[in-house]
Amino acid sequence: MNTEIFKITDENRNTKAAEETIEKAGKILQNGGLVAFPTETVYGLGGDALNPESSRKIYAAKGRPSDNPLIVHICRWEDLPPIVKEIPETARRLADAFWPGPLTMILEKSDRVPKETTGGLSTVAVRMPNDKTALSLIREAGGYIAAPSANLSGRPSPTLAKYVQEDLGGRIEMILDGGQACIGLESTIVDLTEDVPMILRPGYITREMLSGVLGEVKVDRAILPEGSDIAPKAPGMKYRHYAPRAELTIIAGEESAVVRRINELVREAEEKGLCCGVIATEKTAERYRGALVKNAGDREQEEMAAKELYRILREFDEEAVDVIYSEAFAESGIGQAVMNRLLKAAGHRIENAEMMQKRKCKKL
Ligand code: AMP
Ligand code: MG
Repeated sequence: MNTEIFKITDENRNTKAAEETIEKAGKILQNGGLVAFPTETVYGLGGDALNPESSRKIYAAKGRPSDNPLIVHICRWEDLPPIVKEIPETARRLADAFWPGPLTMILEKSDRVPKETTGGLSTVAVRMPNDKTALSLIREAGGYIAAPSANLSGRPSPTLAKYVQEDLGGRIEMILDGGQACIGLESTIVDLTEDVPMILRPGYITREMLSGVLGEVKVDRAILPEGSDIAPKAPGMKYRHYAPRAELTIIAGEESAVVRRINELVREAEEKGLCCGVIATEKTAERYRGALVKNAGDREQEEMAAKELYRILREFDEEAVDVIYSEAFAESGIGQAVMNRLLKAAGHRIENAEMMQKRKCKKL
């Protein structure tokens, strides 16, 4: 299959050509085909959410396990009632505060949503993205686009159209290129079918932000470090997602101890003939030796790390590094989501640089 790619940005959005492209993409979706499109979180791989055949195609194109449900994207609040059993007051309040935006809500589904789209579950995940191209496309497609991230299963989510092309070129009809995704990490998922709303996946909208609107909000224990042996409620969170090909280890602790420890690990790896990558920050990038160093921005500005993380992981893959050492990031704001994705990519390998030093002192 030939995958057509069209650029739609703020510069050409109002031209006839851009309008025709969105119309064409909408028709592809209505006819059961697949179109990848930009959102503010990451690129999505879209199909008609109400057509079981389209959902099957999405799973096949991504190589995604069919028990991992898709998020249904809508562009107007009025389109929510037909696809859910009821709308709890909590959903209304969250939509007022955060839609369009990087928040996905889990609600009881109506019969209009096929089981293929929800991976066999009786609930449906719904989001209204905050991206002009995405919103126009959803409208053109008839109101409901099922869209997981537009990567091959197990690869980092794409934050640029060229990564969608790399993973899905030849497998889907069209890619809409809207430039770099401005958030760079997948949406926060909140389950509203529980007595107390529960976060199933952390993202840009933090627990504090949700609590500000809803009061008490829980976090699925399965996604916290102590719950790694429990099944997460979002089926997708159990897979080793976001994985680079190289072995990744996170080094936490005070800045200079982290730099010292990473340099030591790089030296040891180099002696074994391994090629190393380091995920550094603004202030530390210059202080590493003997490795390919990528700067994820200011350590205190987690937004930057969120935006750059998946690009950095993909670049290390292209450069065929064998091992990656990453500094840990502050866990405030979107930093929680950055660390959640980084820990998954690292298979939960994390070391504390200061502890390592203490252990060495004892040995001496
Ligand atoms: P992605 O679209 O790649 O960001 O993946 C969607 C995420 O939403 C996966 O982790 C799914 O398991 C999760 N998800 C989608 N629908 C539901 C649902 N009904 N209940 C719980 N989790 C869901
Ligand atoms: Mg995904």
